[in-house]
Amino acid sequence: MIPDESLVSLSGWGRTTHQLGLVRRPVGDEDLIRVVRSAPQLTIRGAGCSYGDAALPWRGVVLDMTAHRQIVSFDQSSGVIVVEAGAVLGDLVEQTLPLGWILPVLPGTQRITVGGAIASDVHGKNHPGAGSFGQHVVWLSLLRSDGTVEQFSAGQDADGFWATIGGMGLTGVIVSAAIQLQRVETGWAVRRRRRTSSLDETIDALRSLAVQQELDPELHVVAWLDAHAPGRRLGRGVVDQFRPARTVDLPPGAPLVPERRGRRVDRSMRSLPGPGVIRGATIAAASVARWHLSPARDAQLLPLTAALCPLDRAGCWPAAFGRNGLIQYQFAVPAESVAVLLQVLAFLVGRRMTPALTTLKNFGFGTAGPLSFPLPGWTLAVDLPARWLADGGTLRPIDQIVADAGGRIYLAKDAVTEAKLIPRMYPLLPSWQRTQKRLDPEGRLTSALAHRLELLA
Ligand SMILES: Cc1cc2nc3c(=O)[nH]c(=O)nc-3n(C[C@H](O)[C@H](O)[C@H](O)COP(=O)(O)OP(=O)(O)OC[C@H]3O[C@@H](n4cnc5c(N)ncnc54)[C@H](O)[C@@H]3O)c2cc1C
Repeated sequence: MIPDESLVSLSGWGRTTHQLGLVRRPVGDEDLIRVVRSAPQLTIRGAGCSYGDAALPWRGVVLDMTAHRQIVSFDQSSGVIVVEAGAVLGDLVEQTLPLGWILPVLPGTQRITVGGAIASDVHGKNHPGAGSFGQHVVWLSLLRSDGTVEQFSAGQDADGFWATIGGMGLTGVIVSAAIQLQRVETGWAVRRRRRTSSLDETIDALRSLAVQQELDPELHVVAWLDAHAPGRRLGRGVVDQFRPARTVDLPPGAPLVPERRGRRVDRSMRSLPGPGVIRGATIAAASVARWHLSPARDAQLLPLTAALCPLDRAGCWPAAFGRNGLIQYQFAVPAESVAVLLQVLAFLVGRRMTPALTTLKNFGFGTAGPLSFPLPGWTLAVDLPARWLADGGTLRPIDQIVADAGGRIYLAKDAVTEAKLIPRMYPLLPSWQRTQKRLDPEGRLTSALAHRLELLA
């Protein structure tokens, strides 16, 4: 939490860019409207968990939404929850899980806010069946930069609704939203694990699971890839599938919802000085160990949120990359562009930049959000120590490969891409810009990301 009205050093989750920002943390709707009306330029910030510069200011004031965190209402029969945008996903899940409901889309961390989840239209490991977060938003209320509040839904100003979903905080301030939750019987997940011996085998496993996922929004799938395995074994991995457990899956006497463990607060841990503990040799050793220590397993029970958000148990992950921080480079390419996955891995390995973490997931159909990231196909994410990138241009050959394949980078994680490729990656950018301009005609909403990538017309 950031103190009200102070100049503080801000960064994204990857800690690559640090910027001083004049932060306002309004409490209550009147205060919020006053801040929005009075600031000549404004950058909206949720929990600050976007990796790059999406929630960093370009000019003006940073609007911290974390004081707007109330649950407004929850209809336990329909599963529709109305919540303020600064509410943290983990806090919502904690309240609704014992009542048999969960957010239908959970990204790899629960520490983010509802506003950040909508503005980035985040995805989980069940995208082929469940789609992205925005698809479960029944309506949202948006505070426009002129101080007026409007409600948007798929039937009420659909352009404004979809421009805000994935709109990276540039159409207005999401104040609250109604979200349709998904029913669950328990707070546990059943995990099934399979180990693969090559990238081809990993791809085949994910492809056949995607067919099942399309019919089943409860099926979550992710593959960890061993980018250190040499030759034909490059891209071998561990494919995990999870499904919320039913009551019959639990051993006798087990609680329906796992007991809550004490929350870690290690996000505040400073980055390690120097290069940190993530180095080529340690990553290689950890990769080999991870593959060998992950034998195939049938039906293992674990807490649902721990299964879906594993990095929440390793909040010190960015700190381990040292003072320069970490870049997570995530892109999506169409289903037929499977060769790009190998090309990108080979590029990184060939330049001695073998990632510290490499994950591959399936995407299903995208949304109507012009700036929403998912497209039907694959999404690969790699974690790289920022100190390995000689300059911002190191990953440009990959950007080009991705754009040439009809793919795109994920704006919520980006820190390095060049503006000129964005219109190719996001061909609906001009229509989004028209709606954005209608909603914020004076151009008062900005961010470092919007400036760097020239998102605003
Ligand atoms: C460990 C980890 C794992 C992750 N895994 C995934 C994943 O699996 N899938 C995925 O899709 N993403 C993933 N992410 C990315 C993360 O979900 C997004 O970056 C998310 O937007 C962060 O939300 P936040 O509340 O921290 O928002 P911030 O980082 O503070 O802001 C993100 C964007 O949202 C805008 N915004 C925030 N609040 C509002 C509001 N009230 N109104 C309007 N705009 C607003 C900001 O202006 C900014 O553009 C992961 C991030 C981490 C750190």
